[in-house]
Amino acid sequence: MIITKELAQKWFTLFAEKVIQDKEQLSEYDRIIGDGDHGMNMARGAQQLLSSWQETSPVLLAEVFKHAAMKWISGVGGASGPLYGTAFLEMAKAIGTKEELKHDDLINVIKAGFDGIKKRGKSDVGQKTMLDLWAPAIESLEKGELTTATLIIALTKSNELKATKGRASFLGERSINEVDPGAASSKLFFEALLEAGDFNGD
Ligand code: ADP
Ligand code: MG
Repeated sequence: MIITKELAQKWFTLFAEKVIQDKEQLSEYDRIIGDGDHGMNMARGAQQLLSSWQETSPVLLAEVFKHAAMKWISGVGGASGPLYGTAFLEMAKAIGTKEELKHDDLINVIKAGFDGIKKRGKSDVGQKTMLDLWAPAIESLEKGELTTATLIIALTKSNELKATKGRASFLGERSINEVDPGAASSKLFFEALLEAGDFNGD
């Protein structure tokens, strides 16, 4: 499966629609281990992205990611805005002038996004953040096993972790067995990728 500009735009459109649809649920997760704004934050960026695409569509593949980065950085706020924004921007940079991505290119691009989150968040896997969804999703994609089922398993596993980064870390032990809102929204990002096309095969 080759990722073209059209497919990438479908990916981000589906992601934005899912975020808007699950807004309440995401905020509910954040109400339990954070401050309850994750759904609202994310839906704001998602809505802005969808609206901007009704006026001007991206011309190049990297622009799809750049547009999303701009909306997340300027419109989302909280911790997640700059983190997702950085991820999308690093993905755009990794794409450069490429007009399409093969399976291996896609993995590298997603890894660049993942590294961007780590660097910007000064965080790593195991701290119960969005990274704990991105890491297993990348691993599944590398094995050609990225499915809705592996994403559910990844989120379930991240639930078991104790938060040591971000707002949820204030809860310490009490964050165990709760859903990290950023991991839940990241699951939507990879579900959107799956729905946009079959990315496990070549
Ligand atoms: P805020 O915590 O500022 O209210 P949000 O509620 O929008 O921001 O986002 C919270 C999510 O951001 C968390 O669930 C977590 O996944 C992610 N997050 C927070 N800090 C970090 C970090 N340093 N590195 C990676 N992800 C983080
Ligand atoms: Mg919050």
